[in-house]
Amino acid sequence: MKILEQTFDDFKSLIKEYYKKDRFLAASAYREIFKNGNLNFRSVKDMNRNPDFMKSLTADLRLNIGDIEQKNSEDVLKFVTKLSDGLKIESVIIPMFTHNTLCISSQVGCRMGCKFCETGKDGLKRNLSVEEITAQIYNARITLGYDIRNIVYMGMGEPLDNFKNVIKSLEIISDPRGFDIPLTKVTLSTSGRVDGINKLSEQKWAEKINLAVSLNASNDSIRSKLMPVNDKYSMGKLIEELNKFPLRTKGSIFVEYVLIKDVNDSIDDARRLVEYLKPIKNQINLIPYNPGKDSLYRTPDERTVEQFRKVLIDSEVFVRRRATRGRMAMAACGQLS
Ligand code: SF4
Repeated sequence: MKILEQTFDDFKSLIKEYYKKDRFLAASAYREIFKNGNLNFRSVKDMNRNPDFMKSLTADLRLNIGDIEQKNSEDVLKFVTKLSDGLKIESVIIPMFTHNTLCISSQVGCRMGCKFCETGKDGLKRNLSVEEITAQIYNARITLGYDIRNIVYMGMGEPLDNFKNVIKSLEIISDPRGFDIPLTKVTLSTSGRVDGINKLSEQKWAEKINLAVSLNASNDSIRSKLMPVNDKYSMGKLIEELNKFPLRTKGSIFVEYVLIKDVNDSIDDARRLVEYLKPIKNQINLIPYNPGKDSLYRTPDERTVEQFRKVLIDSEVFVRRRATRGRMAMAACGQLS
């Protein structure tokens, strides 16, 4: 049984079907695996009372977590996992004041082709399976020992392009008997797949999750040059869909805006951005572009970034300037490859 791809409901049914054990025992086992990373259950009282079940379950469980190959540490910790077919993905642990946020990948490569992104350069190799997504959390928490309380789907890949597996991973991540990370602490970032946002909004828990959109432009002509997804889903269609997305009380859509020198960083861009976002409750994250190897684009100077930010603040838009954490590790947004 591949344990990291089991929701509690799946697990409970398998335990009932194969071992004829009840949901309480299933919950004890599930908790021990996901919270403590322990597959032998020796420290779990209920399980000790059922030694035959304990032994067979341990023998039947498969924990596929890949091999952690490389760790880069500066102000963030980026780890590379080698998957069973030899392909590699990256995840980033970002320290916050009291805990850590984990940025995870959902695909190997990406087919969205955003021009400023390292991951998109080589196209899509494949989707990650459910267990390859959840194993990143297992590795950060159990293998590397970090207290992870927030998850952002902002690593390699477009999460809504791997919809089914990402949705199942969200169910596993948020189960209180499992990793126990509530969806209110999870942010899913999309390049603007309007079809995927629509399907996400139909999930019964949609209003709990935080939705982030990587916008990066103030009009269609700039956006289409940077992000081919805009040819199919224009900014007009995007804002219409975002406006329908269910939000919690006081919730808002996070808008990611990578500021690129002489491309999208003018005062006019800032003003158009404010107008464009008026229909939705939003918070903007401004991210000065983080050049990779052979980048086509440049980072705006400090004055330009601050001027842009001032236009937003003067228009009473909630704006945060994302710290350039991971700049040296090449691990900031859109820089995983
Ligand atoms: S920015 Fe995101 S959606 Fe765009 S190519 Fe990179 S990984 Fe894909």
